[in-house]
Amino acid sequence: MIKPTTDNEQGCLYIVPTPIGNLEDITLRALRILKEVDLIAAEDTRHSKRLLNHFEIETPLISYYREKEAEKSVYLIKLIKEGKSIALISDAGTPGISDPGAILVLRAHKEGVTVIPLPGPSAVTTAMSASGYSGNGFLFIGFSPSKKGQRQKLLLSLADSQYPVVFYESPRRVEAFLQEALAVYGERQVFWAREITKSFEDLEVGTLTGLLQKAQAKQMRGEFVLIIYPGEKEKVQGETVEELICWYRDNSELSLKDVSKKLATDLGISKSVVYQQALTLWKDKP
Ligand code: SAM
Repeated sequence: MIKPTTDNEQGCLYIVPTPIGNLEDITLRALRILKEVDLIAAEDTRHSKRLLNHFEIETPLISYYREKEAEKSVYLIKLIKEGKSIALISDAGTPGISDPGAILVLRAHKEGVTVIPLPGPSAVTTAMSASGYSGNGFLFIGFSPSKKGQRQKLLLSLADSQYPVVFYESPRRVEAFLQEALAVYGERQVFWAREITKSFEDLEVGTLTGLLQKAQAKQMRGEFVLIIYPGEKEKVQGETVEELICWYRDNSELSLKDVSKKLATDLGISKSVVYQQALTLWKDKP
């Protein structure tokens, strides 16, 4: 096998993606690097031990988790500067993608330490590749905020995205997430990718309503990627603030508060002024 010239013998940081389900998805290079390095920095050492045992890799592990990223990264960079090679892994997929890693990698760059990223599994690219999307570009968000208000704010800010928006979601929250997305956007096309590369892989192109019904029908388990497509551009009708408020009131699922926020941002006017006007007009809602 040709050994890539970019793989240093020592004193560097490797970023090593690991499978997101199917263990066969680990690359040959990842296996070799994990065997050759002095130390593997893992998000959860107990979790990663199972993966390493499976591949008979005996490299020592050190824990590197989000809460201790800053502290641990100082120590790891010191080891690398002393000549050690370290591989960074997360529980699944690519480190730094909705996973810890960024702090260590940035410190490595700042301190002149060689960073060598390996390509490999990630839920976002795997889901996107299976979605059938033929346009260019997508917007990756990862996890939305856990607080409902912040989540709604985020969804609202993405309402006019011309790109599909990719979210990571947990089974616990998927129903609420779809419900909130439906309330903010109205109907939209969605791609749902659950348990990718695993036994119960479930891929579906659907609508927010359809997938919400599916999520409500039985308790959903597993891990999700949800891709929400841009809405049909409905021509907003109205020229005055009053006409615009009435248009959104009658043609969208947005609440009074959200309409006020949206118009204030779009038109660059005071939110409280729009809100007061909307309050009066909402009373006449047909
Ligand atoms: N670093 C990982 C990556 O590169 O995709 C992401 C880690 S993040 C903590 C975990 C989230 O990724 C899950 O909650 C889920 O949204 C998504 N995910 C990971 N594995 C998945 C899978 N097999 N199927 C669907 N989504 C998955």
